[in-house]
Amino acid sequence: MYRDFIPKTKIRLGISACLLGEPVRFDGGHKRSAFCTDALSDFVEYVPLCPEAAIGLGVPRPTIRLEQHDDQIIATSAKGNDVTEALVAYGKEQAVALDQKISGYIFCAKSPSCGMERVKLYQGDSKMSTSDGIGLFSNEIMQHNPILPVEENGRLNDALLRENFITRVYAYSHWQHVIAEGLTAGKLIEFHSQYKYLLMAHSLAAYKTLGQLLSDLSGDLQSLSECYIVEFMRSISKPVSRKAHTNVLQHLQGYFKNHLTSAQRQEFAKVITDYRNGHLPLLAPLTLIRHFLAAYPDEYVAKQRYLHPYPDELNLRYAL
Ligand code: SF4
Repeated sequence: MYRDFIPKTKIRLGISACLLGEPVRFDGGHKRSAFCTDALSDFVEYVPLCPEAAIGLGVPRPTIRLEQHDDQIIATSAKGNDVTEALVAYGKEQAVALDQKISGYIFCAKSPSCGMERVKLYQGDSKMSTSDGIGLFSNEIMQHNPILPVEENGRLNDALLRENFITRVYAYSHWQHVIAEGLTAGKLIEFHSQYKYLLMAHSLAAYKTLGQLLSDLSGDLQSLSECYIVEFMRSISKPVSRKAHTNVLQHLQGYFKNHLTSAQRQEFAKVITDYRNGHLPLLAPLTLIRHFLAAYPDEYVAKQRYLHPYPDELNLRYAL
């Protein structure tokens, strides 16, 4: 069953080319990300892009910076050339070209072209700056598809953010697959059903809201599904706390209570408590649940993506 969840083909991700070790930075260097090139590369097919190289700035090249001029943000190179139009046009072109062909994007942090947030933004041509900028290329990618999972290289070093990003990527890829196969009311309900506990972990309120949204499927399924996935992706966009995981684990525990001996129930409860108190990783209670699931099969629990949000081999839950 679990293997059925994992896409048969590699998931495609857009990525800033320098993160793969390509020597495309202004100084001819790169920003190779070990997580992207080592851990993740077996599971994804990358679409590497370097917008600054693509618009013909060359390598090496003068650095560029974002400047705020009244209500306009422009990108200028150290030689004084305005490259705003070229970067924005390239961003728009790639956003359309990649639409529904990728399931996420990993951007290089702090870049005036690729940065997702907190990019240095200068006040006019002065030396004064804030960290309020967004890369001109990444901004176009994110504006075109606001529900596309996106993350930056630096943030991927944080175990919680990394796990959350990969969870979003696989969930979004699953959704894209459902849509590509042809959405029906039944498939929409089935999708929601598979994500019950994952959604509950992120937000009980969101799980209920989404359930209510699906309570009447007599209207326009297309627009309803669009509302659904926007809210779904928004709901799972933040990492899950230990407390929220504990709540879900206790719900799942309930499925097995009639099968387990008193000693097994106590052991199960202790493992969950030890996880809650930070003495065990999330993987410990999840492994126990999978073990009990193998012994006492339950179709509804078995199909929960919460238990298998992405390939086990990524080892992301050891660190949670
Ligand atoms: S951050 Fe973006 S523009 Fe800069 S080198 Fe990397 S891919 Fe190219």
